[in-house]
Amino acid sequence: MARSFSQLAINAEKQRTSIAISKNPLEKPELEIHTLGNSVLRKPAKRISKVDANIRDLVKKMLHSMYSAKGIGLAAPQVGIHKQLLVIDLDIENPTTPPIILINPEITGYSASIETYEEGCLSIPGVYLNVIRPSSIKLNFRDEMGRPKKLNPDGLLARCIQHEMDHLNGVLFVDRVTNLEDLKKELKENGFNNKDVMPIQ
Ligand SMILES: [Zn+2]
Repeated sequence: MARSFSQLAINAEKQRTSIAISKNPLEKPELEIHTLGNSVLRKPAKRISKVDANIRDLVKKMLHSMYSAKGIGLAAPQVGIHKQLLVIDLDIENPTTPPIILINPEITGYSASIETYEEGCLSIPGVYLNVIRPSSIKLNFRDEMGRPKKLNPDGLLARCIQHEMDHLNGVLFVDRVTNLEDLKKELKENGFNNKDVMPIQ
């Protein structure tokens, strides 16, 4: 997910992680982020059966791509890898806040309350549009050591996780935009094709 200009930095929930990398942008990160129109973004991701050093290496590479693009969330399908893996960091300006790594995330509950919020996506650079989603969720996942974890996020973290989990199912935030006039205009202005949107019915 990309930060919209109106968003203030919000502290992420701090948690211990064994993944420590610099948040400084790299000139050319190894994993390229694919953009709207590329069919890799539409392919669903598979569960990770074993969380090992290879996965942790992938996590580091994804973090480099995310930090280099100044994003706050990235899903593996965005770099062409169809595994159920997300990296999130809502506090990218602060070098001491660890990123959140979510492996095989599963939403087990949604709040009845909903919220409208402006989203952006590293795969659709420049496009920022309102999306309606539940304001909080319940989540099961594994961390980067394969340990089962639970989380009940709200606010920006709940928003970001829902956005990134959509990527695991080949869904993009523009598919959920309800203001079709704004959608068409924003896509055009940023060089994207409206035909690449697959509206959620
Ligand atoms: Zn995205």
